[in-house]
Amino acid sequence: MRLEELQAAEQKLLLPTYERNPLLVTGGEGVFLQAEHGVRYLDLLSGIGVSALGYAHPVITAAIQAASASVLHTSNLFFHEGQAALALRLTEASGLNRAFFCNSGTEAWEAALKMARLYGTMRRGEGAALGTRFLAMEGSFHGRTMGSVATTHKEKYREPFAPVMPEVDYIPFNDVAALEAAWSNEYCALLIEPIQGEGGIRPVSQAFMDAARAVTQRTGGLLVADEIQAGFGRTGKWFAFQHYDVAPDIITVAKPLAGGLPLGAMLCTDEVGRAMQPGLHGTTFGGGPLACRVAVAVFDEIERSALLAHVTEVGAYFEQRLAELKQRHPQIVDVRGKGLMLAIELSDALDAKAVLEQMINTHHVLINRTSETVLRFLPPYILKAEHVDLGIAALDASLRHLNEKQLQAAAQTGGTIGD
Ligand SMILES: *Cc1c(COP(=O)(O)O)cnc(C)c1O
Repeated sequence: MRLEELQAAEQKLLLPTYERNPLLVTGGEGVFLQAEHGVRYLDLLSGIGVSALGYAHPVITAAIQAASASVLHTSNLFFHEGQAALALRLTEASGLNRAFFCNSGTEAWEAALKMARLYGTMRRGEGAALGTRFLAMEGSFHGRTMGSVATTHKEKYREPFAPVMPEVDYIPFNDVAALEAAWSNEYCALLIEPIQGEGGIRPVSQAFMDAARAVTQRTGGLLVADEIQAGFGRTGKWFAFQHYDVAPDIITVAKPLAGGLPLGAMLCTDEVGRAMQPGLHGTTFGGGPLACRVAVAVFDEIERSALLAHVTEVGAYFEQRLAELKQRHPQIVDVRGKGLMLAIELSDALDAKAVLEQMINTHHVLINRTSETVLRFLPPYILKAEHVDLGIAALDASLRHLNEKQLQAAAQTGGTIGD
């Protein structure tokens, strides 16, 4: 089917959930996607931070082939070798002790919320004074299921589905004074993204992270870090919280975990894990043999090819090239992020959507935007400096083109007024 036919069919058959770009993906290899008519796109988004090893990576292909020749699904009623193998790697890499596997980011976050409530229930049973409320951040995004939207700040995602889960409060991002004023033992958990993703690639400050650990420790509440976008190598460390000298009680992981297959995980300490009992939580598909085997293969490949060091290095180069671009284009007002989780903020004078269209349609470079003004880059970890140069050249040309167009428009309006 061609793009136009697909668009017509989807318009009739699917819920209008997405505003898709008019691009029909037909294949991919490395950091490039192939689209209709053989057009090649440099992918600086990797399916919203999912395809960490790019496309058609031989390690992933081999793991899928091996797993698919055996049992694809066992349910969680029986043992298979994958979950313990993956949990061992994730616990060693994170310093947390226990894992629960599921199928997506939002499910990992739901597991974290339930775990925090469960821990609170257990601690109250042990005589502790610990409430049931959650304290979350303005600008947060934690997913689309009911608990996740209840802890997601943007009203657009929450209000149409009201009433969502109650007992969630928000404080301004990175506001230490607001945190210290708001926090009390009414809260069972403080919810943060070490680097806000959908909120515009905003890293938590060291001071805020320190305060977050200190206040929660004071009351016995939990520090819960959503690492679904920033975790599993994206920032050059296994987990984004490791850039700070702070250990959370619970973290969630998903997007790049199985290199493109759906898989999520919630990791917690032994202390928190004490609260779980058989039958209190579960999933039919979560942590299946295929997804776990592929995730272990991705993990091994990140280690074998020293991709964490590579992400740090190529990420720093990317950031430096963006900073150079900022010198030449006053429309770029900020460059931020860590490793290969980067963004530029544009001045209000420029529409991020117009830049995006230039990048995709004219220069065949895939990126996306998190708001009207923020362009986001989440490329595969295998990105090379030469790919960064291609992306930067495309961005440079896109900004110059839009600038000239604006100047022309201004000149024309000026002329009309002058007449
Ligand atoms: C994407 C994302 C989620 C939701 O993950 P899904 O797999 O889409 O459910 C939650 N938290 C963060 C920080 C994310 O980036």
